[in-house]
Amino acid sequence: MIALNRHYADLKDSYLFAHIAQKVSAYQRANPNKSILRLGIGDVTLPLCDAVIAALHEAVNEQAAKESFKGYQPECGAPFLRQAIANHYRAHGIELKDDEVFVSSGASDELGDILDLFDRSSSALVIEPAYPAYVDANVIAGRRIVHLPSGRENGFLPEPSEEVQADLIYLCSPNNPTGAVFGKDQLQRWVDFANEHGSVILFDAAYEAFIEDDNLPRSIMGLDGARSCAIEICSLSKTAGFTGTRAGYTVIPKELVRGGMRLNDMWVRNRTTKTNGVSYVLQKGAAAVFTPEGQRQIQENLRYYKENARILMQALDEVGVWYCGGKNAPYLWLECPGGMDSWQFFDYLLSEIQVVGTPGAGFGSCGEGHFRFSTFGSRENTLEAAERLRTLLA
Ligand code: PLP
Repeated sequence: MIALNRHYADLKDSYLFAHIAQKVSAYQRANPNKSILRLGIGDVTLPLCDAVIAALHEAVNEQAAKESFKGYQPECGAPFLRQAIANHYRAHGIELKDDEVFVSSGASDELGDILDLFDRSSSALVIEPAYPAYVDANVIAGRRIVHLPSGRENGFLPEPSEEVQADLIYLCSPNNPTGAVFGKDQLQRWVDFANEHGSVILFDAAYEAFIEDDNLPRSIMGLDGARSCAIEICSLSKTAGFTGTRAGYTVIPKELVRGGMRLNDMWVRNRTTKTNGVSYVLQKGAAAVFTPEGQRQIQENLRYYKENARILMQALDEVGVWYCGGKNAPYLWLECPGGMDSWQFFDYLLSEIQVVGTPGAGFGSCGEGHFRFSTFGSRENTLEAAERLRTLLA
């Protein structure tokens, strides 16, 4: 009989969002007249911007005519999009070659697939609390996971340490769920550490577009030595509302070499074997994000979510609840008041004011006692939730 990958049995049930949905619908059934405000989801609510929609329509029309029809696209990405992304980095002072950029269908796909580059005997360091996919993808691969706890004492931004070493190092900045963002010096210490130990950093920049403080790094590629130790995985999901449209990109510098093998070449080989590229229509839509018009329009949407963050932060400031994030990230990470654990606080908010967030325990044991609010909801719901929080926690 065929032997299966037994590591699937090692996965913990990912019941977090299902459990939240169950609790919310049970509450709604019992209280049909109450209006529930959902600040739990990490999905965007505003539509794609006009520049992207126009490009998508145009590309569909091209596919409808014999003269302009396009078949397979290059596996690593259409040249026009690779160049647009590399130019975007250059405009921010980071030199990249076009073929160091790989177009993807999104960060989740890449975070899982990129593990093909590393031997299963390698270990992975995950800073807790964490986006659950980092742990799960490595559990499935049977890889040893080193958990590095973080907390309020280090602003959820731990320093590298000789005691916790691993071959792969996951860094997510701005962070989901904590909203914490590495400063340049802190990130530089991780880059130096990775170069000293021959590790590779997987830098998840899915929320880079939310950084408004010019002193904070939006990409790891601008740091000294990053080109010899880091892969950057990015997404248009939150930057430009592509959660349901799907597009992202991955940067693998040519200087990233381990054991005589160049990871950029390996990834070309991987993509040409395992994919036939991202849809032409979507790549045209994605390229529109990097035009001046697209950049201006996505900023309008980002400002909308940032205003939601400001509204929630103001409410939490007024009632004296400790939190981080919110300023350069679309999440607020707060300490549950009154010593409640994160599911107790979830139940309390649901039953008292019908506000739904995400219990921190869902992001690993370091998340216990904390709670995440997303700023991706509607303005109306965010304002109402802030008002209810003020009344309840005053
Ligand atoms: N990385 C982080 C930290 C995320 O929070 C998410 C989605 O919420 C992703 C990656 C996945 O993004 P994508 O939609 O591009 O797959």
